[in-house]
Amino acid sequence: MFSKIIIVGAGISGLTLANFLQKNNFNNFKIYERNNNSVSSTTGIQLSPNAVRILDFLKPKFHLDKVFNKINYLNIHSQDRNEVISKIDFNHLSNDKIPYISCSRNNLIKFLNFSISPKNIFYKKKLTQVIRQNKFIVVKFADGSEDECDLLISADGIFSETRAERDIIKQTNFTAFRGIIKNFFPHSSTTNDVMNLWFGKDNHVVSYFINNSNDISFTAVIKNKLRNLNLSQTINFNDEYPKKDFSNLFLLKNKNFKELLENIDTIHHWPIYSLKKNIFFRDNQIFIGDSSHGMVPFQAQGAAQGIEDAYILQELILKQVTNNLGLFYFNKRNSRIKSIIYRSNINVFIFHLSNPILVYLRNAFCKLIEKSFFWKKFMFDWIFNYNPRSTNYFF
Ligand SMILES: Cc1cc2nc3c(=O)[nH]c(=O)nc-3n(C[C@H](O)[C@H](O)[C@H](O)COP(=O)(O)OP(=O)(O)OC[C@H]3O[C@@H](n4cnc5c(N)ncnc54)[C@H](O)[C@@H]3O)c2cc1C
Repeated sequence: MFSKIIIVGAGISGLTLANFLQKNNFNNFKIYERNNNSVSSTTGIQLSPNAVRILDFLKPKFHLDKVFNKINYLNIHSQDRNEVISKIDFNHLSNDKIPYISCSRNNLIKFLNFSISPKNIFYKKKLTQVIRQNKFIVVKFADGSEDECDLLISADGIFSETRAERDIIKQTNFTAFRGIIKNFFPHSSTTNDVMNLWFGKDNHVVSYFINNSNDISFTAVIKNKLRNLNLSQTINFNDEYPKKDFSNLFLLKNKNFKELLENIDTIHHWPIYSLKKNIFFRDNQIFIGDSSHGMVPFQAQGAAQGIEDAYILQELILKQVTNNLGLFYFNKRNSRIKSIIYRSNINVFIFHLSNPILVYLRNAFCKLIEKSFFWKKFMFDWIFNYNPRSTNYFF
């Protein structure tokens, strides 16, 4: 058994791992976060059933709390005409009735923070150096202090400073524009359980309610904007984008889409990064979440995969796998992560088509997914029904 674990980063991946360790009475861990504990990002997040299932192991039925919103339908539209291309019913997709949900990121972080003992979590502690000393790892912080452990978990995001590989961060061709519209009652929908995906040319937009107070999160992903930013910069979620310039980026022929854009107030934007290579471990240092496999977010699986990583890792730690922990972890995660990244890359290609024949074929396929349970299962089953507690789970 490891005598002491250090987790770097109190994001979704690090906090999920800390919760599972604590729930299973492994209290000899510390989690260090460079920021203070006030959550600031004003965006939403979707959690597919594979992630919700794992969080449900932590706190059964947590998703019934009013800060979480159940998504039953995905409506797919084109930005240039007034029709719904496809209405995909998410009900009955998960074998155990675990829902697809959305929420504000702040509320997800609050939920994950809630049970962590203050004795285990330390804020304003920026880790700056990792030194290996035989079986131990010494970590140094910006404030001059240090600590040591025999297992270091890097959950410090895509710009991880605890990863030896410095040149694997890639700025993609995509920029994300995000924000929240408060108290919005769109004409097109009277219920909060519909997520909308709007196909455009070289862009796509996703909008969904994040609670039952009618607040909507929107995310636009646009190709080839805002290149040449300094790669080493951390993402500035407070960078605002002018509303008028934002509307000019889209076709506004679909009246519901136009209504959505007209109600947007504040838009934040940042470039999207991914990793050229996935890093799972180095000796007794394990990477989880974006620090391991930062990916383009076109299948809403980034955080979901961090949550899966955290669950698998805690299971191995509690089973007392100490020799070759990294290798066991790699074997359990590698092929699934690769498949998810592959699907994410295909999605963006399909979402941004402009050739009319390909657009026609894509739309016909979306319709087929709506009508055929087989195709719906084919598309989503392996992602949504992943259950690490079941002996016959996928990958
Ligand atoms: C536009 C967009 C939309 C997305 N939508 C979704 C979605 O709907 N569903 C989904 O599942 N995923 C989504 N994702 C992906 C998801 O946001 C990420 O995969 C997820 O947040 C990664 O979590 P993490 O905990 O691994 O890393 P992070 O969230 O980056 O957390 C890392 C933490 O480590 C801390 N840290 C960093 N360096 C140090 C240091 N040196 N010392 C101490 N602390 C440090 C940071 O402050 C931070 O708190 C989206 C991503 C984007 C860009």
